[in-house]
Amino acid sequence: MSERVALVTGGSRGIGEAICRRLAADGFTVLVASRSQEKVDAVASSIREAGHTAHGLALDLTDISTFKDIVKQIVEDFGGIHVLVNNAGVTADNLMMRISESAYDDVMQTNLKGTFFLSQAAIRPMMRQKWGRQINISSVVGLMGNVGQANYAASKAGLHGLTKSMAKELGGRNITVNAIAPGYIETDMTQNLNPDVKAAFLKQVPLGRMGQAQEIAHAVSFLASDAAGYITGQVLTVDGGLYM
Ligand code: NDP
Repeated sequence: MSERVALVTGGSRGIGEAICRRLAADGFTVLVASRSQEKVDAVASSIREAGHTAHGLALDLTDISTFKDIVKQIVEDFGGIHVLVNNAGVTADNLMMRISESAYDDVMQTNLKGTFFLSQAAIRPMMRQKWGRQINISSVVGLMGNVGQANYAASKAGLHGLTKSMAKELGGRNITVNAIAPGYIETDMTQNLNPDVKAAFLKQVPLGRMGQAQEIAHAVSFLASDAAGYITGQVLTVDGGLYM
């Protein structure tokens, strides 16, 4: 068992997978979590093949009733939770006029409500350890809004309020809570965008390109480290300069 344990939601692919790989390379025992046991086991096994420590964990953010038992089991099996990266997220894009109640609920359930209660469940072990890092992966869309993403933007803006409130409540316990707001990152979530929309979007990015999942993982690595111990309640944009 390594000294510090990191739980990463949405670790089965994309940004979450890159975060898992980076934190494992940093020396954390990484718990790769998503709804699919098969997929997280595959990511964890490939991390182990690279010589690091990782395990797959089935966790569905819409199933809040399971969180306390999952956290208890992690503490029993691995000795604690030092870093929680709330990365899992979904979209159900449409114009505001056309967003159904179920499209609103699906996005809120995973992105905000699930994250809220998993963060809550992880507080107790972090308090006992007198050390903790919670890192919420939000989005620049939560800062600047976006056409066709009112439900998603509201969920991500909600994460910013959660981040700052938790940072204020938990600072005295040596637990930092920050958000990373990615811009436009190349993953499954963005691969089906219309090329014209993509080109128009990239014109607004001073660095003129999409970001890579590893570039979010590097920022997570820093915020999870001892070096970031005096940073809390912040929203760090990693977006090629899109929002400033
Ligand atoms: P992907 O769609 O590639 O991956 C989403 C991840 O979330 C998957 O691992 C999926 O795993 C997991 N997931 C979805 N629903 C649940 C659930 N109910 N419970 C547990 N896990 C779940 O997304 P990205 O990697 O692109 O995005 C990662 C995060 O970054 C998201 O929060 C996203 O909003 C944010 N972001 C992404 C940007 C981008 O440009 N890509 C830009 C800004 C923010 P599985 O299906 O196996 O359960």
